[in-house]
Amino acid sequence: MLRRMAEVDVKQGLRAVLAKIEQASSKRSQELQCIIPRLVAVTKTKPVELIVEAYDAGQRHFGENYVQELEEKAQNSVILEKCKDIKWHFIGHLQTNKINKVLALPNIYMVETVDTQKLATNLNKNWPKFGPPDSKLNIMIQVNTSGEEEKNGILPSDVVNLTKYVLTDCPNLHLDGLMTIGRFGYNVEDGPNPDFICLKSCRDEVCQALGLDWKKFNLSMGMSDDFEHAIEMGSTNVRVGSSIFGARPKKD
Ligand SMILES: *Cc1c(COP(=O)(O)O)cnc(C)c1O
Repeated sequence: MLRRMAEVDVKQGLRAVLAKIEQASSKRSQELQCIIPRLVAVTKTKPVELIVEAYDAGQRHFGENYVQELEEKAQNSVILEKCKDIKWHFIGHLQTNKINKVLALPNIYMVETVDTQKLATNLNKNWPKFGPPDSKLNIMIQVNTSGEEEKNGILPSDVVNLTKYVLTDCPNLHLDGLMTIGRFGYNVEDGPNPDFICLKSCRDEVCQALGLDWKKFNLSMGMSDDFEHAIEMGSTNVRVGSSIFGARPKKD
């Protein structure tokens, strides 16, 4: 299933995306100039050899959105041998019964999709069984900025509460920021993406309510179609797949 498409040049794709990230970053306001957005290379459906190729080109942060696929890749012997410093981001919906599978993985770096108190509670409770002593698991809170029923994520009005809960009751978690997927197919020519505006205002609200430094609070927004736009709007973590690794086969 995971066969390499000969025409994909990962190094070239990666270089092009990094150049666009730099370009978009330079258009931002002065106070954002010092923040270089983090690129998470999303490898779902893509084979191990393309991951190794991107790693060899210097990429360190990688994202997967299915538990089983992340398990296969994070435990793959070639990845373990050749990508010792890889940092995995889980970016899909995490069911309670799969938490331990994710926490047990080598080089799990972040869960970007925490959207309930229950999930935060369980990650916090179980991380010490798996992580290095006294370490914290990085998490982001996923916000349903588009209000679409089928989307995961906490409602914008509940973000402050969940943030407060994580900060006060989850000592084994490090809250890295907020994440949104947003509405598909938004046309940037219609103006600033409302999902990105919403996530940013959630961040401002949280930082104000809890007295936090907004510069230490990442915003994970922007994918292949809109990562430059997202960066111009303040994204500090973009999740890019097909622009680097080529188009994915359509789901049947
Ligand atoms: C697949 C995926 C991406 C990357 O999508 P591309 O359009 O291929 O860049 C980003 N975020 C999430 C949550 C995804 O599932």
